[in-house]
Amino acid sequence: SKVPSITLNNGVEMPQLGFGVWQVPDNEAAKAVGTALEAGYRSIDTAAIYENETGTGKAIAASGLPREELFVTTKLWNSDQGYDSTLRAFDASLEKLGLDYVDLYLIHWPVPAKGTYVDTYKALEKIHADGRAKAIGVSNFLTPHLERLIGETSVVPAVNQIELHPQLQQSAAREFHAAHGIATEAWSPLGQGRGLLEVPTIVAVARKHDRTPAQVVLRWHIQTGNVVIPKSVTPSRIKENIDVFDFELDADDLAAFAALDEGRRLGPDPAVFGA
Ligand code: NAD
Repeated sequence: SKVPSITLNNGVEMPQLGFGVWQVPDNEAAKAVGTALEAGYRSIDTAAIYENETGTGKAIAASGLPREELFVTTKLWNSDQGYDSTLRAFDASLEKLGLDYVDLYLIHWPVPAKGTYVDTYKALEKIHADGRAKAIGVSNFLTPHLERLIGETSVVPAVNQIELHPQLQQSAAREFHAAHGIATEAWSPLGQGRGLLEVPTIVAVARKHDRTPAQVVLRWHIQTGNVVIPKSVTPSRIKENIDVFDFELDADDLAAFAALDEGRRLGPDPAVFGA
């Protein structure tokens, strides 16, 4: 069954489910991304710091898929923040990917202590104006960072990609995003496969629907309105994770998920990370 798209605030369509490649070594990325494209994924989430843009680009080229059917995201690393260095880093990413545009370019972390995310974003606006990124946005931005960006630049970010899973549901961030037309993209949607998939409530919902815990978690994201980018290098899991569009969680299931929120991060605190 086909992956639905959401419409970003600039009219660009983004698949609601994509393939994340953090921690996939460059020499394995072509195989993993190739498996994902064969399984029907059309959106790929990489980043300069993942050091697998080359392998990702190889899989894209080898797939033979028309470029316009793909949605490729990459991200600017912290050490490249600043106007001129961002333009250079973007060129390097495009070169590694073997593409002449990306669909979405994100600032990976705000690094507020550096004080450069506004200038960095202005470089993204230039890249967007030149047609080399169909949409631009941010990742790991907290509300004050978004408020400042919206106040000092002209293109409202299309996306904020943040840590989000049933134990960190991010309701306040989601509300702020919705009020400003920013799509919420969930990183580590499966909680990095560390414990979340054994939570008894999730195992019970999975049994009820004759699905796996990963599938009901991804289904929860879809019904919540999040964009998701689960990662796996295991072909059977890659297929399992996209096979979530032919069943639905009911109100009881959603209530059970709502009770799992602990507001607990697995990853770093964006207020201080990268300083
Ligand atoms: P995830 O939540 O997608 O979990 C991936 C792990 O879960 C796998 O390594 C595997 O151990 C397990 N898993 C996957 N599918 C499974 C299945 N069907 N059954 C059982 N276990 C399964 O974690 P992630 O990789 O951290 O996040 C996904 C993507 O989000 C990343 O690859 C990356 O693209 C992005 N990301 C972005 C940031 C950021 O700062 N912007 C940070 C982390 C991740």
